[in-house]
This record gives sequence, C-alpha cells and structure tokens, in this order.
Amino acid sequence: MLSSFLLAWYDVHRRVLPFRGTKDPYRIWVSEIMLQQTRTETVAGYYTRFLERFPDVFALANAPEQDVLKCWEGLGYYSRARNLHKAAQVVANQYDGQFPASLEALRALPGVGDYTAAAVASIAFDLPSPAMDGNLTRVLTRVHGVREDVDTPTVKRRLLALAQEDMPQTRCGDFNQALMDLGATVCVPGTPDCEACPLRPLCDAYAQGDAEDLPVKAAAKPPKEISMAVALITCRGTVWMTQRKEALLNNLWVYQLTEGYETQADIDKALAALGIRASCAADLGSARHVFTHRVWNMHLFHYEAEETRCREGRFVTLREMTALPIPTAMKAAREQVVRLLTPRFELAQEAMLPALSAVWAESWKDSHTAFCSAEFLQKHTPAYMEEKLRAHLNAGRQVYAVGLAEKTVGVMILDPWANELNALYLLPDGQGRGVGKAAVQFAVETLEKARPMRVTVLQNNQRAIALYHQFGFTQIKEVRILDEKTGLAEEDLIRPAQGEKTT
Ligand code: SF4
Repeated sequence: MLSSFLLAWYDVHRRVLPFRGTKDPYRIWVSEIMLQQTRTETVAGYYTRFLERFPDVFALANAPEQDVLKCWEGLGYYSRARNLHKAAQVVANQYDGQFPASLEALRALPGVGDYTAAAVASIAFDLPSPAMDGNLTRVLTRVHGVREDVDTPTVKRRLLALAQEDMPQTRCGDFNQALMDLGATVCVPGTPDCEACPLRPLCDAYAQGDAEDLPVKAAAKPPKEISMAVALITCRGTVWMTQRKEALLNNLWVYQLTEGYETQADIDKALAALGIRASCAADLGSARHVFTHRVWNMHLFHYEAEETRCREGRFVTLREMTALPIPTAMKAAREQVVRLLTPRFELAQEAMLPALSAVWAESWKDSHTAFCSAEFLQKHTPAYMEEKLRAHLNAGRQVYAVGLAEKTVGVMILDPWANELNALYLLPDGQGRGVGKAAVQFAVETLEKARPMRVTVLQNNQRAIALYHQFGFTQIKEVRILDEKTGLAEEDLIRPAQGEKTT
C-alpha cells in the first residue's frame, strides 16, 4: 500500500532535475557520486559540465586524473573524483564499458558504497535495492515509528528490511526516487508538511504527533579545530604552489600550509625546509574552512621570495594557476593571490601626491641615470616631480598610482585631450612582473580608440619601445632633446585609430 500511495504522488510531484529521466548507469552513477554530501542545486551545473567533458565511461577512464580533479574543483570531497576516475577504468577495462547489473559487482567498484550501488541498481536496472540515504531514513523512521538511534548497525539493518518490505515488484528506481523527493520536499528535517503527504494515513509519527523528534540521532562529535598558516609566496609575478600528498585534499594544489601554526617562526622553519628564502610582506587576515570532521582556522600571510628556486613545489603564473585543480578550502587564499599578482591603477587624489612624487622621482632616476648628466638628474627631486604632477592635474590629465600587492610601484599619466599615454614609470619592484604590459593595456582601454593614440618614450629605452610595438604603436620620428649635454631624447610613437569592425 505504501508504494502505491507513494508512486501515485511521485507521478505528479516528482522533482525535475537534470540527472533524472535516464536509465544510463554511467550518468546515474556520476550524479549519485556528486550528490553525496552536496546540495542538489549545486550538483546540477557540475553534472552538466562534467558530462560535456566526459560524455561516457571511456572518456572518463582515459582522462588524466588532474583533468578530472579540475572538473571537480569546488565540489569538495575530492576522493569522490579520484574514485570515480578509478571506477571508470575498472568498468572500461574489466566490463568492456558496460556497468554490471548486480548490486554486489557495483558495490565492488572504487568509491561505490551501499547507497550508490543500490541507487544505480534500482534506477538503471530496476533491481529491488533500497537506496538508504538521509531522506529515506527520515521518511521510513517516521512512517514506521522507529524511535531508536538510526546510526546504530541494528537499527540500520531494521530500516533496510522495512524498506525492502515496502519496495514494489516493479518501478524500484522510481520507488527510491519518490522517497528521496518526499524527504526533500515534504517529509523534511524539523517540521514536515504532513498535510501534503501521501503517506499520512500510514504514518506512525503523524499518528503519535512526534515527527519532529524523528529520526533519533546521537549528538555528533564537534569537528576538530586546526590552526593553519597559509603563506602566499610570490616572486616576480608568480606564486609558489605544491601538490598535496596528505590524504585530505590529496593531489590538489595548495599554497604553503603550516599545520598547527602558532608563531611566525613556524612558517620560517617550514620555508627553510623547502629551500625558499622569503620574508613576510603582509598579514592578510584570517579565513575558515569547515570539512566534515575538521575545521581549518587559517591565517593568511604574503611572503616575498628572493628567487624562484625551491626544493619542492613550483612557482606558477596566474595563468598556470588557473589550470590547476585547487580545493575550495583555498578560495580566500586564491583570491588574495589574484589580488597580489594583478596590477592596480588608482586615480591619484591630492593627498596621494607627495608619496607618488617620491615614487616618480625614484623611478625616473632609475630609468635615466645611465643616459643623462648629473646636473639633469639632480633637477628631478621629489619636490620638482610633485610640481610636475600638479601641473599635469591642472592641465586635465589623469595621474594614476600603479599598485602591485601592498606597494605603489609606479606612476602613469594619461592625457585624454591629446589621447596620449604621457608617462609610465615603474620602480624595479614593478618591473619584469607584467605590470608594464598591464599598464599599456589599461591605457589602450581607457583612452579613446576612435582616435590615434600617442605615447612618449625615451629614445634609448628599447625595452619600452618593444612593449609598445606589441600594442601596435609605431615610431613617427619626432624627437625632442631633453638633455643637451648627453643628447638624451624622447620621441613619440603612435597607434592608429581602431576603426569600427565591419561585417
Ligand atoms: S505524514 Fe508527515 S511525518 Fe509522516 S511521512 Fe508524511 S510528512 Fe513525514
């Protein structure tokens, strides 16, 4: 009787989900593995993307594990992805790509437990195997009035036997899915919606009025709190990462982690063991990640390394980092790394001018020392540069502070009237890290594209000229002498107007 009430309800009220309506055991298996400890709404997007990337069991079996982990990134519980990959290889190699239609053989696949085996067996092969997840357990304890701890082996066996008794001869997969849907939408944890429930006439908990107290569970042990330092070690536009060897997050890429961290000395010791010479540049605050049985209380630090040499792990660029599988536990750290390695351009306000003048004077000196006279150099003091910055602002030009990580590493001046990149100066800390390229890109995007764009550059600065050539600038042979004594000169380059695209 229970199954007929339930299936009639299911025919009308079933949830519409992207992984429903298929008998393909591969697709059912993938969705069931994803649904373990993950919300249905979260799984929907991952499921579609995963199947686009790995449309059948052979595609999954033949893929590198790193690709599978990358596709799983953000879903958590990565051992599921590793086992999925291994099980696909077993099905591809031992079963010729055909999933076995037997509960025992399914149960023997890596990562397939009682629940998943029963779900695949019932939905794909219509075998009478109850898929005992949280939803089934809750509905059945309430309907049958089971008032003992559902996590004990005896009660688990009893619930399984009750589910087997309730299971119909046919539509076994629908029966399981109907109980899942009823548990997810009507017989929910806490206060169930009994008025909308097809099982109300049969339900013991409804009759006794204690549905809210069921199922009975022993209080869970609180997760273990672990203090963890996360050092984001950067060096010349790259960040140090390593592939974890521990069981938790195995094979995923993480930043430098010091478990049980108490003081800065703990991190220094860990860095020394890795052969990395680096110093702490900033305290980036805290982040927290909750796993099933433990919590990482993370403290994030930015470290600057002198060189990219290291005994383990490797320094990667932002682009390389994007291709690596990185666990959700590193989400806050990863956002900080993107911030640390991405140049910023901030419009200068009055209060910023003294500090910016000092940066300009220093970077100006750095780029001119080799080419001009001492007298010419001496003239360009911070005070003189501040005067020049004010003159630029008064003339309606835009003065930008160029920032990288915690520092101001340069000055850029754009002239929207003349459509000109008037000046770009970087301190050594901002050189060789992609900042110049990002600055020119920023200027090209900020200035008007419909007019030719100009840039002024020192004639001797071949590196800058090469960079501008990459953006389509060409020399126009207009040269201005800056220092009569040494013949130091600047010249203009021009980038043609970018015409509207025609089709
Ligand atoms: S009647 Fe209420 S408690 Fe019983 S199965 Fe339905 S929703 Fe759950």
